Amino acid sequence: MIKRVLTTCPYCGVGCGFYLDVRDGRIVGVIPSRSNSVAKGHLCVKGWHAHEPVQHPDRLTKPLIKKNGVFKEASWDTALDYVARRLKEIKAKYGPDALAVCTSARCTNEENFLMMKFARAALGTNNVDHCARTCHSATVSGLNQSFGSGASTNSYDELPRMDCILIIGSNPTEAHPIVGWRVRSAIDNGAKIIVCDPRRILSAESADIHIQHYPGTDIPLINAMINFIVSENLHAQDFIRERTEGFDELWRIVKDYTPESVQAITGVEAALIKRAAKLYATSKQSCIMYSLGITEHTVGTDNVMSIANLAMVTGHVGREFSGVYPMRGQNNVQGACDMGALPDVYSGYQPVTDAAVRRKFEKAWAVSLPSKKGLTLTDMMTKAVEGDMKCFYIIGEDQVRTDPDTHMIERALANLEFLVVQEIFLSETAKKADVILPGASYAEKDGTFTCAERRFQRVRRAIEPLAGKTDGEIICEISKRLGYEMESAPSKVCDEMSALTPMFTGVSFQRLEANGLQWPVPAKNHPGTPIVHLGKFKRGRGKFAPLNHKPPAEVPDHEYPFILSTGRMLFHYNSGTMTKRVPDLLRECPSNFVQLNPADAKERGIGKRQNVRVKTRRGELVAPAEITDKIKKGVLWMPFHFSDEPTNVLTNSAFDPVCKIGEYKACAARIEKV
Ligand code: SF4
Repeated sequence: MIKRVLTTCPYCGVGCGFYLDVRDGRIVGVIPSRSNSVAKGHLCVKGWHAHEPVQHPDRLTKPLIKKNGVFKEASWDTALDYVARRLKEIKAKYGPDALAVCTSARCTNEENFLMMKFARAALGTNNVDHCARTCHSATVSGLNQSFGSGASTNSYDELPRMDCILIIGSNPTEAHPIVGWRVRSAIDNGAKIIVCDPRRILSAESADIHIQHYPGTDIPLINAMINFIVSENLHAQDFIRERTEGFDELWRIVKDYTPESVQAITGVEAALIKRAAKLYATSKQSCIMYSLGITEHTVGTDNVMSIANLAMVTGHVGREFSGVYPMRGQNNVQGACDMGALPDVYSGYQPVTDAAVRRKFEKAWAVSLPSKKGLTLTDMMTKAVEGDMKCFYIIGEDQVRTDPDTHMIERALANLEFLVVQEIFLSETAKKADVILPGASYAEKDGTFTCAERRFQRVRRAIEPLAGKTDGEIICEISKRLGYEMESAPSKVCDEMSALTPMFTGVSFQRLEANGLQWPVPAKNHPGTPIVHLGKFKRGRGKFAPLNHKPPAEVPDHEYPFILSTGRMLFHYNSGTMTKRVPDLLRECPSNFVQLNPADAKERGIGKRQNVRVKTRRGELVAPAEITDKIKKGVLWMPFHFSDEPTNVLTNSAFDPVCKIGEYKACAARIEKV
């Protein structure tokens, strides 16, 4: 007898719904849900295999305590007592801000809410953050400044009916395949596609215009598009006058960025920039889709605001069939941000520094809360290297493999007095822990994820937790040992969250049963909000940001003559912890490689699949060369999924000063034949 459990995909931020088929307590397959409003009966290759890592023999099922450098199994009580005792000791010795919590975009909203409550109410620190810091913190800060809300403005369902989709720094066919399928539907319906990407990605093959600019030159490119649009009188003058502010300040900067003047910086002919600008501006229903190619720069926040500038100049935002789509990376990175797993805000982006907001949470949680903003993940790592951070509690993240500059992260973790890692597999970060607590996968818990179109969707338990506890239960048991009890039942946590969060007031498990709800949901009977900023931006008037080009922190020079960029592939996901345990996915792409242009390969005498050493100022690794004209001369590209050949030993941890995101997408590198 097969039990069919409807749940949400644990991989990317698209948020496809599917059924897990369960027989005799084991998951035996995945079936797409035709009624799910995101997937509409489709899944990508990762989704079809999403059940396989759940019951993999490598799963951690027992708590492990390290003694003399060796992990030994322990009972739950022993491990939890030990963790609670060490947290108490470190807090007593150094104060609460010597501890930090890194929560997880792979976990549910309810677990993220519990984890941020645990940090603030039980530990007494606002040092709580998660991987959005390294992927879309620039979106939160940038779109918030421009529009007043740091999330997607419109919905997936509008995509197939767009006339023009401008895709910049995003690879939807590989990184967000079911959104890539919606883009394909738009093409079939006659939409024009503009792809701006240093590589000829799959979307570029079917695009009307492909702009192959150098990594780190998005602002001059977009400024030049705005320059042409305004010079040709293609801008939306009524929209600019009635709904925005700061246009004159924008123009004072942008007037100097003619398409001709940015040719040398961007490596793109002026005529192509003009064609793209005209197509985007004059199409009736135009939107912009972007992702980490925009955000993961030292100018990530500026890049995002530059995109908002372009959308507002043309009036392609704040109405149906328009907008800005930041494609979120992880399944619940939107939700982790929304739940306040950030150092400066509670759930719903309510500032920790606002005394009235703080009083509300203090009253509800019956505890005094810290008033000072906490540290970002970037700053936590720096403090750990300097010796000022003593303890991390990390849940469901592999910083050693996913953060830029691996060696610096290793130094940071080695400097801690105590590291707790809650994980489902023995990740590189878990190996460095003092205690490993075995977590539960998405298939073993109830809760919600929020996808990139701001949609809360249900996650449902298909099998019992392999290690006996969900992540929420583990957090609550540690909290209880610290003297602060929390409710762990997911539906009750959801109710607590919505009662404290005005923009999620109408969210409850019961209301999410059918097809979820898109936030804001400000009242119990509110139907949700597929399009935000209709008629008026959340901040009132949309704000133009006058932005000048700033080059990446590292630019090519005589010693390191290439620009190295990194990204995702269809068959793998992040550090590969789950996908490398799926034989069909591993077979398609078993190991790392470096892409380079044929001209660069010829100059250096490098042959097809020949091993090359890639070096940056931070590290080096050896990988086979993939020689392809899909990449621009002078640029190298590597995926970051392979923990045995970790690309992030090369990347640069230089960060955006506003949102503290690292610059994964551009650093100086060189290659040598091995
Ligand atoms: Fe899962 Fe993303 Fe693939 Fe959908 S597109 S099945 S959410 S990995």
